[in-house]
Amino acid sequence: NKQVLLKNYVTGFPKESDMEIVEGSITLKVPEGSSDVVLLKNLYLSCDPYMRILMYKDTPLSLGFQYSPGSPLTAFGVSKVVESGDPKYKKDDLVWGVTKWEEYSLVPSAKILFKIDHTDVPLSYYTGILGMPGMTAYGGFFELGCPKKGEKVFVSAASGAVGQLVGQFAKLTGCYVVGSAGSQEKNKLGFDEAFNYKEESNLDAALKRYFPEGIDIYFENVGGKTLDAVLLNMRSHGRIPVCGMISQYNLSQPEGVTNLANLIYKEIKMQGFIVSQFYPLYPKFLEFILPHIREGKIAYVEDIVEGLEGGPAALVSLFSGQNLGKKIVAIAPE
Ligand code: NDP
Repeated sequence: NKQVLLKNYVTGFPKESDMEIVEGSITLKVPEGSSDVVLLKNLYLSCDPYMRILMYKDTPLSLGFQYSPGSPLTAFGVSKVVESGDPKYKKDDLVWGVTKWEEYSLVPSAKILFKIDHTDVPLSYYTGILGMPGMTAYGGFFELGCPKKGEKVFVSAASGAVGQLVGQFAKLTGCYVVGSAGSQEKNKLGFDEAFNYKEESNLDAALKRYFPEGIDIYFENVGGKTLDAVLLNMRSHGRIPVCGMISQYNLSQPEGVTNLANLIYKEIKMQGFIVSQFYPLYPKFLEFILPHIREGKIAYVEDIVEGLEGGPAALVSLFSGQNLGKKIVAIAPE
């Protein structure tokens, strides 16, 4: 059972050498009498930015699982049930949810595990558009952003797993959408406008260029300087769903945000969230999104590497922006 282990807690930017690949051993059997454990064969593993935050010794993030040196990374994936103690699952069921970075995993079935009923779409989608990042974009944008037709929307990390969906949801709602990402190539997204934040010496001026009347909804993925410039450009009663702040995850000294007083002046609503609060909406989300995928009205860009050996490099690539779309490790594709 090949595994990717965390070698040590991480400070600064994560490196491939913070992880190691080993040949582990697990008993490929659900323990006798366990009614809440399933044995999974992992097919696709998801690379997500929060995994870096769990690599801190004293992680500020509590998701119900922690990382510890010498243990495989816990993460989202798509898997096939090999054996189940839980009567809700049976052999050969396909599931997505929290598993581990290894070929086979014994996981608690009561935690985050969803049965996959629709297989006419790529299975890898359940790490992205039909999985946790999809729910993040859906819940964050619609539930917290409360978009209305004609509103002006800005999304950062716009080509990523979450951002590319937020932009498309905004277009479907009839909003004007601008995205920012770190390269020209990433900015071909089909939004109204896009810019490369690395080429803008003055983000405030860039935002004024694209939003002369201001921003109604900023879907926050990066934090830092971008957030600061956005605060100057929000409209009254604007909304900022705070999904992530990837520019801050590797810094020992977080960047200061100086324009927060605009929250008061413009009565802006800024709200952080963790996607799990939206999981009860999953059936409603599927009803909304599956027809859009099937009719080609929503597209999803994936960036897939083959083999568990490529996992550490794939994960690390998120923090230098080398991924183009949802980053996935395919370890035993169907
Ligand atoms: P992505 O697929 O977008 O990958 C991360 C991207 O972030 C990179 O490709 C890179 O793109 C960009 N990035 C990296 N470093 C920086 C930086 N210093 N400044 C600006 N951009 C940077 O990841 P996801 O879509 O999965 O995640 C996007 C955000 O959503 C993250 O902040 C993540 O933590 C958050 N998130 C939050 C959840 C929640 O429950 N609240 C759930 C899921 C995700 P580029 O080339 O544009 O720089």
